[in-house]
Amino acid sequence: LQDGLSSALKSLSGKGKLSESNMRDGLKLVERSLLEADVSYEVVRTFMKNVTEVAVGEKVLKSLNPSQQIVGTVHQELINLMGPVDHSLHLKGPGEVTVLMMCGLQGSGKTTSCGKLGRMLKQRGRKPLLVAADLQRPAAIDQLHVLGEQLDIPVYSERGEQDPVKVCNNAVKQAKKLGADTVILDTAGRLHIDDELMGQLERIDKQCNPEQIYLVCDGMTGQDAVNSAQAFNQALEIDGVIMTKLDGDARGGAALSVKQVTGVPIKFIGTGEHLDALEEFHPDRMAGRILGQGDILSLVEKAQAEFDEDEMKAQEERLAKGEFTLDDFKKQLKQITRLGPLRKVMGMIPGMGGMLDSLGDVDPENDMKQLFGIIDSMTPAEKRDPKLIDQSRRRRIAAGSGVEPHQVNELVKMFEPMSQMMKAMAGKGMKDRMKMFNQ
Ligand code: GDP
Ligand code: MG
Repeated sequence: LQDGLSSALKSLSGKGKLSESNMRDGLKLVERSLLEADVSYEVVRTFMKNVTEVAVGEKVLKSLNPSQQIVGTVHQELINLMGPVDHSLHLKGPGEVTVLMMCGLQGSGKTTSCGKLGRMLKQRGRKPLLVAADLQRPAAIDQLHVLGEQLDIPVYSERGEQDPVKVCNNAVKQAKKLGADTVILDTAGRLHIDDELMGQLERIDKQCNPEQIYLVCDGMTGQDAVNSAQAFNQALEIDGVIMTKLDGDARGGAALSVKQVTGVPIKFIGTGEHLDALEEFHPDRMAGRILGQGDILSLVEKAQAEFDEDEMKAQEERLAKGEFTLDDFKKQLKQITRLGPLRKVMGMIPGMGGMLDSLGDVDPENDMKQLFGIIDSMTPAEKRDPKLIDQSRRRRIAAGSGVEPHQVNELVKMFEPMSQMMKAMAGKGMKDRMKMFNQ
């Protein structure tokens, strides 16, 4: 994929605006990336449609080409889609018992995640109780007891009981007596969703009234994860998803699909079989992983922050010759505006801070346009040597740019200290100068 990506990026050079045609290659790559990451086909289609709408008409940054920029836009859209995440477990206060319920298909990692969550809670000073409510497989109860022993967390089970609803109910009732304040229900799964399982889970939900219900979802499965998440969410109203097995080479596309289809946020991710391998879910990291283009993303970020190198070089050479005109000044202002919010950046430039104050509530972006307008109304000779600008020239320039003559004067005054400083610094690189501004 990396090969395809770099060559596609090379084939596109900076065009004025993103359009459907010059974005096509970039979008194709993104689409392929998403499908390779196991995002479900339907989700990919909807997503690509949205991204195209957002991106068309966006101005292409000078130092980026359309497909680089599209990757940036896609990254941001992925983050928006998978976020925001509330990592809280919604635990009740002291003296009260909080119930957390796990559900999910067989083998998705429910029992393991119960142990991981129990460990996390214990570390946070809570007193968890694990409840063995998977009565489908004889070994399931033993599995939970083994985890409990490893973690030194009590496990509630009733051997011989057939009804998991009763087991859960009894466990919640006895939690306080057993010294626990957080009950984690480890329910049964099936290889496929069936009505009996769903009915059982719904009854547990009704009787035990869990504070949070978490769907445990295998991150290695793509389309399956979506279908099961939808079914579980319809029956139970899931509060969050724990996506497991993201330690392998799964690209995590299921995270996007599940969130898109159910609206339920991923809360935690399982990153290994060990009981400490549970992490909070971060949409930005997952977005990078789904795109599988860490390099490209950092390239985009870097390009966004940097100036146009060619323009810089040309100015460099002229400065070295002791030249600094109002045209250079204008270019400089333009570059500066890429560094951050105009008001903040301008405040750092000698001679400009005061002018900003006098602007009051005026929008500096707009004001900048006005400054450019004034400069554009000057003759080349005036731009080279603003001292030429006398009263009549001043009036002509003001009329040409739609400002008052005194505003032309202010600009010239502003230019002078800047010009001197620039000439004084002619030996230094543009970046060093910018650094001076940023101090
Ligand atoms: P359950 O049937 O839903 O209770 O699933 P289990 O908790 O028994 O887990 C099924 C298998 O997946 C076990 O072999 C676990 O060790 C493994 N597993 C669970 N979570 C993870 C994870 O985050 N990463 C990896 N690599 N394996 C996991
Ligand atoms: Mg289990």
